[in-house]
Amino acid sequence: MKETKHILNDTHGRAHAYLRISLIERCNLRCTYCMPEEGVKLSPKSHLMTYEEIYTIAKTFVDHGVTKIRLTGGEPLIRKDFPVILERLATLPVELSITSNAVIIDKFIDVLKANNVNSINVSLDALDASKFKHITRRHEFKKVYDNIFLLIKNGFKVKVNVVLIKGFNDNEIIDFINFTKDLPINVRFIEFMPFDGNKWDMSKMVSYAEIMEYVHSTFPKEHVIRLQDAPNDTSKNYTITGYKGSFAIISSVTNPFCDSCNRLRLTANGQLKNCLFSSTESDLLTTLRKNEPIAPVIERAVRAKFKVRGGMDTLEKLEKPQLHTKNRSMITIGG
Ligand code: SAM
Ligand code: SF4
Repeated sequence: MKETKHILNDTHGRAHAYLRISLIERCNLRCTYCMPEEGVKLSPKSHLMTYEEIYTIAKTFVDHGVTKIRLTGGEPLIRKDFPVILERLATLPVELSITSNAVIIDKFIDVLKANNVNSINVSLDALDASKFKHITRRHEFKKVYDNIFLLIKNGFKVKVNVVLIKGFNDNEIIDFINFTKDLPINVRFIEFMPFDGNKWDMSKMVSYAEIMEYVHSTFPKEHVIRLQDAPNDTSKNYTITGYKGSFAIISSVTNPFCDSCNRLRLTANGQLKNCLFSSTESDLLTTLRKNEPIAPVIERAVRAKFKVRGGMDTLEKLEKPQLHTKNRSMITIGG
C-alpha cells in the first residue's frame, strides 16, 4: 500500500516540511553555550549514519512531503564526506541549506554552489576578537569574519546567528545592527536556550524585550521598521531605514513560535527528535539497519510531538534543570 504524506502531520494541526540533519557530533569550535568544556560523550563511529543512510532516510522524508533540508552539526563541514553527502542530497527535490561556524567554509564555495546551496547561516557571537575567543574557546575570529565577506562576494544569502549572553555580548547588539548597514545580511539574535551541560540559567538570557530596549534607545522609533516574516519563520524581522541588511530576534524562550513549527530533527546517530527541546527520540537508524520500514516510526514520533517546547510549556518548567537536562547538549542535537 502506498504511504500517504500525512505521516508528517501532528495532532496539533502542524504539517512538517522542514528537516534538519546533523551530520556530525564533533566541532572545530567549543562554544560555551553549546557544549560543556570537558566535551560530550561521542557516539562510536559505527553508530553514526553513513552517507547512504542519510540519503535513504532523507528520501523517505522527502517522499512524504519534506521540501527543505538544512545540514548542521556539530560542524557539518568537518565531516570528511560532506561533499558526497551534499551531492547525494542535491539529487532530491528539496531546498538545501547549511548552518556552519564558517571557519573552513572558504574551501567549500565551489561544492556549495555546484549543489545549489544558496542560503547559509553562520554563527558569530561577537565582533570583538577576544570575546569570540572567550565564547568559542578557539582563536578563529578572523577566518569567520573574512569568510562572511567571501560568502557575500560569492552571492550567498547569509544569515548571522548571534546567541546573546547577558553581560557578555549584549553590549554588541548595536554593533551587530550597524554591521547590516552596508552588508546585505540578516543578523539574528537568539535567546540563550537551556540544554544539557551549558550552565544555562534565566538570568544569563537576553530577552526579546531587552533587545528591543537596546534598539529603541539607539535608533529613532520611526527608523526601526518591522518587516514581513516568511511563513513558518522562527524570527521576528526588522531593518533600520537606509540599511542594506536586516536583523531579527529568535525568542524560543520568552515567546516560542511552536504554533507554526514545521521542523523535525535527525541527529548524526540517526535519532529523530520531534522538537529541539524534546527529551525523547525515535531510533530511525536501527530500524533502517534491520531492514524495517522507517515511515511508521516517523509517524509515531510526529504524532507524539508536544504542542509547546517538548512539553516544557511554561517558563517555570523550562527553568527546571531536571527537565531540560534530560535533553542532549546542543552540539549533538543540531541547532
Ligand atoms: N556549528 C554550526 C554553527 O555553529 O553554526 C552548526 C551547529 S550549531 C549547534 C547551530 C546553531 O545553534 C548555532 O547558530 C548556535 O549558535 C546555536 N546554538 C547552540 N547552542 C545554543 C543555545 N544554548 N541557545 C541558543 N542557540 C544555540
Ligand atoms: Fe560548534 Fe556550532 Fe556548537 Fe559552536 S555552536 S560549538 S560552532 S556546533
